[in-house]
Amino acid sequence: AKASADKSLVWYDEHLLEKMMRERKLQEHLQSALSNEEFELYFQPRVELSNLQIVGAEALVRWELPGSGTLYPDSFIPIFEANGSIAELDFYMLKKVCRYLHERMIQGVELFPISVNFSRVTLYREAFYETFHAIVDEYAIPHDCIEIEVTESAFNDIADIVLQMLNQLDEEGFPIAMDDFGSGYSNMNLLGSLPLQIIKLDKVFLQEADSNERVKGIIICAVELAHTMGVQIVCEGAETQQHVDFLREIGCDFVQGYYFTKPIPHRAFDEKYPHFEQR
Ligand code: C2E
Ligand code: CA
Ligand code: CA
Ligand code: CA
Repeated sequence: AKASADKSLVWYDEHLLEKMMRERKLQEHLQSALSNEEFELYFQPRVELSNLQIVGAEALVRWELPGSGTLYPDSFIPIFEANGSIAELDFYMLKKVCRYLHERMIQGVELFPISVNFSRVTLYREAFYETFHAIVDEYAIPHDCIEIEVTESAFNDIADIVLQMLNQLDEEGFPIAMDDFGSGYSNMNLLGSLPLQIIKLDKVFLQEADSNERVKGIIICAVELAHTMGVQIVCEGAETQQHVDFLREIGCDFVQGYYFTKPIPHRAFDEKYPHFEQR
């Protein structure tokens, strides 16, 4: 028994060491990955429920790691968040989005709003406002085309200076969205003080609504809460026709989900949706 206990201890240590080394490797990789353009810009459309037209897209990162295939954000973002380097990736993605929109401007093609995810770590970076502006201004992007998406939990204990900055960005016309609404410890009173234009209801609600009638009630109330506050609401994670029908019935504004499409590379998005509707 003792021998096997020792063995499992050794196995555990090796496992941990391996994990640490893999994480360190990924971290060391970030710089070269950024300069080698290994991060790819994927889009998932945002669909307006009243007419089922695409009105925007969310930018999502994929890491095309040579030799390892495509890595999904959940496997590397927590590592970059832990050591603060996520800001570099977030701003890199913002730049890709701005370059994409700039290209459309040059071609005279219709623009559409794109939501960009920013981690709490990035938002709290001292020079967030300046860096954000430098990128958006360099490409002369209309402010209403860049939506700032921040996870609900990132707003907890929000610092005054960050709140002021968000108010400033809101005044400048950048839409601000609360992501993953309902997934964490929501602070209801925060909703009143944040300059939000959009709430994104976390995908767990639609998933659970299939088997739980009460969760449907929560979704209905979330839509009503948003509308009473004068903000619009996106429901995430629609995978079936029933989901879409339900959301239309209850007057939800927008929807995203696999039912329409999984996130796809931005070039594939252009091919798939060549006749992008005017807003
Ligand atoms: P998120 O911002 O909540 O993005 C939505 C996630 O739900 C995406 O996962 C998307 O692929 C997935 N999804 C969309 N429709 C459906 C559906 O119908 N069913 C299911 N089961 N899932 C659906 P993804 O792309 O793997 O991204 C995971 C998370 O990684 C994102 O969650 C976001 O928090 C983070 N992330 C992605 N890109 C970035 C980035 O550039 N910067 C930062 N800071 N975070 C990012
Ligand atoms: Ca998001
Ligand atoms: Ca979300
Ligand atoms: Ca998320």
